[in-house]
Parts: sequence; C-alpha cells; structure tokens
Amino acid sequence: MIIAIDGPAGVGKSTIAHMVAQRCGFYFLNSGNFYRAVAWSHLKRNKDPFDADSVLDTARSTDITVRNGRIHVDGQDVEDMLHVHGIDQCVAQVSVDPRLRVYVNSLLRKVAEGQDIVTEGRDVTTVVFPDADLKFYFDAQPEIRARRRFGQHPDEASYAQVLETLKKRDEIDKGKAFGGLKVSEDAIVLDTSHLTIEEVCERVLAAIFV
Ligand code: C5P
Repeated sequence: MIIAIDGPAGVGKSTIAHMVAQRCGFYFLNSGNFYRAVAWSHLKRNKDPFDADSVLDTARSTDITVRNGRIHVDGQDVEDMLHVHGIDQCVAQVSVDPRLRVYVNSLLRKVAEGQDIVTEGRDVTTVVFPDADLKFYFDAQPEIRARRRFGQHPDEASYAQVLETLKKRDEIDKGKAFGGLKVSEDAIVLDTSHLTIEEVCERVLAAIFV
C-alpha cells in the first residue's frame, strides 16, 4: 500500500508522514531528503548548486541509500545534516532539472518496491506515485509555514529570512517542468494552518481506516 502526501515546504508533510508510518507500521519515505542529499553532496564538493549539469554529475556519482530509515551519502549517515539553511536556500533550484527529477524518482521507486510506505514531497501524488492508494495534499499559509520552520532551527536565520526563502522555494516549485505543487484530482486536501500535528495525523488515520 502506498500513502502519498504532497504540498509546499513547511506544511508538516514529513512530521505527519513519519507519525502515520509509525502508527501503521509502514516504511517512511521522505522524497525531499533525496534532493537534499544531492545538494549536500554537491556543496561538499564545493561545486555550484545552480549549474544543473554539474549537479546531475554529482547525483549520478553519489551513492544515496536509506539504511534503517536514515539517508546515507556514500555510506555516511547525513540524515541530521540536511535541514540547514544553506541547503534550504539552494535545494529548490537544485531539484528543478527534469533529468535530475527522473533520476531521483527512479531511486524513490526502487526504495519503495515491495513494501507498504508512507511517502511525502512535492509531486509524490502526481508524478512519483500517481497510482498511490491514498493521496493527500496539505496546504497552509506561508507565514505559518515559515514560523514552523523557524521554530525548528531558530539559530540559523531570522524569521524574515526563513519566510523569504520559503516564498522563493514556493515560486520555484510552482514553475517546475513537471511535478511541483500540483493538486492531484483524487487527493484529499487539508489546510493545516490552524490544526495541531495530532489533529492532522488523526484526520489522515481516519481516512486510512475508514
Ligand atoms: O520536503 P523538503 O522541503 O525537504 O524538500 C526539499 C526541496 O526539494 C523542496 O523545496 C523541493 O524544491 C524539492 N523537492 C522536490 N520534489 C520532491 C520533494 C522535494 O522538488 N518530491
């Protein structure tokens, strides 16, 4: 079974997907972490994240795997290094290239093969897993999403910087050649602006166990 959660940055997708996966005993597949891992690897090589050809080279020459639910780059556990402001600032642009998207999508499908999963990320309901058994699209006001992100890493950037970065990412995500920020016709749409994590989780679980 595949449960897919789509929507913009900071809307609570990964928190909820993680909780739902735990409660259902499903595998949690975070698609954004794959793009972040490519960006991390690329920045570590001191290369330009806005040069699509070299980003693609990095992706193809980087071993990205998931072990015990944690993402590894060339054997190194990078799970806790991916949500920093430096990566936030470039990852939306890094993930624009359709060639990279095709490549990452094939990695995601490989990881998902033969298991029950809860997955999340922009385009998981429309492109990566269009035949998912259950689809959700979460949305929330940009200011509320930025406040949540800021709360997670208050030392890295000001609230105003986080809001600005988030709005830029929304713009880039909206313009992606395929995938980005489209609401699948068969998705359940939830505005999480004024819901607690627990309330969102309960609504998702209610839809799964009807
Ligand atoms: O979900 P998260 O914010 O960690 O994703 C990081 C970035 O990767 C997003 O801003 C988005 O630009 C990109 N992304 C994507 N397609 C996905 C998941 C993430 O383009 N399926």
